[in-house]
Amino acid sequence: MNGNFDLVIFGGTGDLALRKLYPALFRAECDACLHAGGRIIAAARQKMDDAAFRDRVSEALNRFAPDIIKAAPDGALARFLARIAYFALDVNAPEQYRELKARLDERASQTVFYLSVGPALFPAIIDGLKTSGLNTSETRIVLEKPLGRDLVSSRQINDLVLDAFSEAQVYRIDHYLGKESVQNLLALRFGNTLLEPLWNRTWVSNVQITIAEMVGVETRGEFYDSTGAFRDMVQNHLLNLLCITAMEPPSSLDPDAVRDEKLQVLRSLKPWTQESLRENIVRGQYRAGSMGGQAVGPYLAEAGVTAGSCTESYVALRTEVANWRWAGVPFFLRTGKRMAERRAEVVINFRSPPHSIFDSALAPNRLVITLQPEESVRLYTMAKAPGDGMRLREVYLDLDFQQFFRERRQDAYERLLLDVLRGNATLFMRRDEADAAWRWCQPVLDHWAAEQTAPIGYAAGSWGPPASSRLTAIADTAWHEELNI
Ligand code: NAD
Repeated sequence: MNGNFDLVIFGGTGDLALRKLYPALFRAECDACLHAGGRIIAAARQKMDDAAFRDRVSEALNRFAPDIIKAAPDGALARFLARIAYFALDVNAPEQYRELKARLDERASQTVFYLSVGPALFPAIIDGLKTSGLNTSETRIVLEKPLGRDLVSSRQINDLVLDAFSEAQVYRIDHYLGKESVQNLLALRFGNTLLEPLWNRTWVSNVQITIAEMVGVETRGEFYDSTGAFRDMVQNHLLNLLCITAMEPPSSLDPDAVRDEKLQVLRSLKPWTQESLRENIVRGQYRAGSMGGQAVGPYLAEAGVTAGSCTESYVALRTEVANWRWAGVPFFLRTGKRMAERRAEVVINFRSPPHSIFDSALAPNRLVITLQPEESVRLYTMAKAPGDGMRLREVYLDLDFQQFFRERRQDAYERLLLDVLRGNATLFMRRDEADAAWRWCQPVLDHWAAEQTAPIGYAAGSWGPPASSRLTAIADTAWHEELNI
């Protein structure tokens, strides 16, 4: 990076900042990726001096990134803490933005505003930045999810931010896109000739994208209960992963070239019909169950959840990318809390061999891109088992190539923060993408609001309601973990 920067984190004392953003920035420090003239300014409501705040960041690093602290080069922590400053600011106090401006005007630098606060605070912050003249064409603004709770509110937020900034200055973050394994999927598809000829309806039988969590709603019951799994995960993370998986080869890695192709996928998603809304979506809510031998309570007993809530903690759905490449190939998306495992993955199930010359059953090839808990890319193939006779067994080829690289992997937030500082928007959502995603999601929300039916219960610690298995069975397949190979 070639110049000074000022990264101002609104909500800089919050959970996201302490758990993810400072550890990611510290990783970048350890890799010598932060310019010596870079400042990180945490802006939040409490009164605190720089020294007290640096202690808090240091504590957070020890807690959330102990591995990085342990491996950090000499002097890295001191260097990192020295760049951190604290700026007490109530986002609703306009005069305080002028003070912030005076602070930023002390020197020439690339300024980035990171809105690590709930969307209810976006209007005040954007207004404050605009009124104080902090929205110069040289600045960038990063927006955390959730960007609205439906099509209308997301458009309102986008109108608001685009009234003060141009689209090229806005970075809508989705940290799943910053994962190394997602980057690797792009490398595999577009840096090789091997997979691309197979990447279509002729050779792919179905695609499954899962983000499963073991945690419940934790301390965010109130937020989650007014949001639900569909808004929290499907509208953004799952659709973004679907776009990266299904898109046509972009002409370059230029931000708009990639985002144009992602947009085409969103526009090609099969529109919902009354029938598909009923048949192709399963909504679930966890009941009491057991996680790792420990009894856990039901969703309805979580703090912050309203009595008798119909909010879903699980969604599975089947959709289709209606274009020449993918017509007829089911895309299954699913996400849930209190699931049997913490796992995020994209599974490409290829078709079965047309004819078998072996006695052994042949499992169709699968490409499995795992994003969590560990990142990996594996191609499952049939191979001859050692020994007498032709017994075939499924094995996987590790396409992650981790052993070839000595460098540490970048963490997703680290990559994305560095991209913002460098002005590379390839992995961030453009307004028309966000709009297209909400347009496709809105009929689902409307259908549920009109129907008012309760989600189906599933035991905490399971893989969701049995109805989700029927969703795959109709397409003559099964969820990845049910294939049991
Ligand atoms: P949080 O409640 O822990 O932190 C909120 C921050 O906003 C604090 O720093 C607080 O001081 C500041 N704040 C609140 N009111 C203010 C005011 N009037 N003036 C100035 N500062 C004020 O929230 P969080 O978990 O860090 O989440 C922030 C946003 O990021 C939310 O929209 C959340 O949905 C989203 N998000 C969080 C996570 C996560 O892992 N925590 C992940 C993805 C997205």
